[in-house]
Amino acid sequence: MRSRHDKPTRISLSTIRQAVVHCDRCPRLRAYCARVAGRKKAAHRDDVYWGRPVPGFGDRRARLLVLGLAPAAHGANRTGRVFTGDGSGDFLMRAMHQYGFANIPTARHATDGLKLRDAYITAVVRCAPPDNKPTGQEIKNCQPHLEAELAALPNVHAIIALGRIAYDTYWRVMRGLSICPSPRPAFKHGLVFTPDRGPALIASYHPSRQNTNTGRLTAPMLACIFKTASQLITSAAITKHGRATC
Ligand code: SF4
Repeated sequence: MRSRHDKPTRISLSTIRQAVVHCDRCPRLRAYCARVAGRKKAAHRDDVYWGRPVPGFGDRRARLLVLGLAPAAHGANRTGRVFTGDGSGDFLMRAMHQYGFANIPTARHATDGLKLRDAYITAVVRCAPPDNKPTGQEIKNCQPHLEAELAALPNVHAIIALGRIAYDTYWRVMRGLSICPSPRPAFKHGLVFTPDRGPALIASYHPSRQNTNTGRLTAPMLACIFKTASQLITSAAITKHGRATC
């Protein structure tokens, strides 16, 4: 059996994708996703909902990994692609497009032509949770999928954690790699942490409707996060720890 400090065995992204899509470790979430897919939202009543776990998406040579919370019930749970089909996806993609990580500034459906460059997007949990609130056990259940993706993406140099749950998950994954700074920095939008080894961390507020509608996270603030990420992965000359400044 693998000990906590062993690196996960490297398997291909397509194998991980299959494992995610067929995963049934969280019966509550699987039932919720299927229920939402059956009931639908009036605005999408003609759509065939995906209704299953949503795998990560992007460039297999990515140097940047973007870590969200979970699929939205009528967004990724409908379209089958992470951060696709709702306002959060468009808000995120606008910033990614601005810094060359996406070929188009929108994410509307799985066949919209969106391609990520040097970036891969995934989530802490891959099944839509009721009220966007996964339980601690569900977060724990899904972590091996993230660890497998990280092992399959050997060029990842920086991780943008969108929101506190993604931020906490970054630290749990790093602890599994024996990277445990003390004291651990507190979550703060724009925080940059560069460990001696392992991928750097950039913390951001999540582009949820609640955050973007209230102005807690604005388009320039998120663009600044991707500008910092772009600088981090293309330059070794970035300060060890600090804040994104734009
Ligand atoms: S949330 Fe993750 S671990 Fe749970 S059923 Fe979905 S894919 Fe599996």
